[in-house]
Amino acid sequence: MSKLNDLLESEGFEDIIEFAETYVLESIVPGICMNPACSNVYEYEPDQNEGWCDCCASNTVKSGLILAGMI
Ligand SMILES: [Zn+2]
Repeated sequence: MSKLNDLLESEGFEDIIEFAETYVLESIVPGICMNPACSNVYEYEPDQNEGWCDCCASNTVKSGLILAGMI
């Protein structure tokens, strides 16, 4: 849940409802790196579960819609 909060905060959303309404129909959505020490945000497909993080050099980026439990 905290990763989701980090993502909402870095994208400027007040809450999950606002985020959901903005991205539910989009084909590219913000995702966040799941490594504890990293909070890099990238744009990925809504169902992306292992996106590439340049910072960590690993496939650790999850889409915000997955984090929000919308997929
Ligand atoms: Zn990372």
